[in-house]
Amino acid sequence: MKLETILLHGDLSFDPVTGAVSTPIYQSATFRHPGLGESTGYDYSRALNPTRSVLEKRLALAENGRYGLAFSSGMGAISSLIKLFSPGDNIIVSADLYGGTYRLFNDYYSKYGFSFCWVDTSDFERIEKHFTRQTKALFVETPSNPMMKVTDIRRCAGFIHERGGFLIVDNTFLTPWLQNPLDFGADFVIHSGTKYLSGHHDTLCGFIVHSNDGAEARLRDAQMSEGAALAPFDAWLTLRGLKTLALRVDKAARNAEIIAGWLRQHPAVEEVFWIGFPDHPQHELSLRQSRGPGSMISFYMKDAGHIPRILKKVSLIMFAESLGGTDSLITYPVVQTHSAIPEAMRVAAGVNDRLLRLSVGIENVNDLIADLDQAFRAA
Ligand SMILES: *Cc1c(COP(=O)(O)O)cnc(C)c1O
Repeated sequence: MKLETILLHGDLSFDPVTGAVSTPIYQSATFRHPGLGESTGYDYSRALNPTRSVLEKRLALAENGRYGLAFSSGMGAISSLIKLFSPGDNIIVSADLYGGTYRLFNDYYSKYGFSFCWVDTSDFERIEKHFTRQTKALFVETPSNPMMKVTDIRRCAGFIHERGGFLIVDNTFLTPWLQNPLDFGADFVIHSGTKYLSGHHDTLCGFIVHSNDGAEARLRDAQMSEGAALAPFDAWLTLRGLKTLALRVDKAARNAEIIAGWLRQHPAVEEVFWIGFPDHPQHELSLRQSRGPGSMISFYMKDAGHIPRILKKVSLIMFAESLGGTDSLITYPVVQTHSAIPEAMRVAAGVNDRLLRLSVGIENVNDLIADLDQAFRAA
């Protein structure tokens, strides 16, 4: 079956008792045992819940992985994944990435003896340069958040596998509809399902997808032990979101193409970062490893002084954190998503006070442009 169908129907299994067309929400924390030493397979929902299991299988299928694990947030997924590693291990991480990931690694795991090295992973030579004997993994966001740099998944996988480590790819921005990192050799895919996968700004959710038989039991144990597993109702909301993922991502990407072009010719805008532009530095690479540029756009205004007015004046487009849902959102990374990153490091990565990030939704594109136009005029 093709991916759109898999997103809707998974492996075609259904509730054998009722035949329910919509996956039932098993809103039960615990499950009755038939007798001593007997189990239905479900004992306690932190370990396993039937609604969550359906979602986990569906995302595994969508990412061409053998295993999927669903968490209560993207950060919950990343935190459990780190349990595969040990104090003393080093992980090379994309320098411009989601600020919350930076905070988790730098403010927490580095205290427990892990070390992290922040590198522009779109520049392969820098990865080679920073590799040490302690390096056990590469953690890349591609495209990166918010600068839209693209990292070569296949090349990174080859490099780290030769040295006995793992490649982890945060695939939140492109989703399995546009990019399947496991197909290019990545070992673990991470998602913030809060974004495109659930897709309606109404639930937090995260995933690990992989095909590593050796790691699966350890990841399941980490998920069960840490207690950040996804709740049944949120699993159901995410299953519902996945049914329209392909439609939503395609419509948003068509809107984004038009808006990226409009921004690029606007006199108040200095530079637009969108991987669909043929002159994007890694455009060729993005065509090789993904099926489209998606709907995230970042741009520098010429004058940072205009930004407060723009954020006040947008009305259809909402000034809010997050991305990847039905509704268009505008974000100011320096004060929102990337505020946890120290200023010097942030600015070196390009995240300065002139940068805005737009998550294009599925509204009518002319309405979106009219809203941007009036906000820019007011600024
Ligand atoms: C939002 C986000 C996360 C964190 O996910 P939550 O669901 O908010 O915990 C991780 N990576 C990327 C790329 C994100 O956009």
